[in-house]
Amino acid sequence: MSKSKVGCQTIGCSVTSCRFNDEGSYCKLNRIEVEPCYDCGTGKPADESLCGSYQHK
Ligand code: SF4
Repeated sequence: MSKSKVGCQTIGCSVTSCRFNDEGSYCKLNRIEVEPCYDCGTGKPADESLCGSYQHK
């Protein structure tokens, strides 16, 4: 990714249980961390690309 895009992206998200979610459509944060689950290595998207910035409401 071009560094010129840092801080300029819109993060679409439908995780309404997260305190940073905006009406089931967007993330209010300027930056999130996407992380794999610990020691999974399954190659499945749901395991390999979790939102590490999630916080329950
Ligand atoms: S922190 Fe992660 S889970 Fe929460 S609204 Fe933002 S992208 Fe969605």
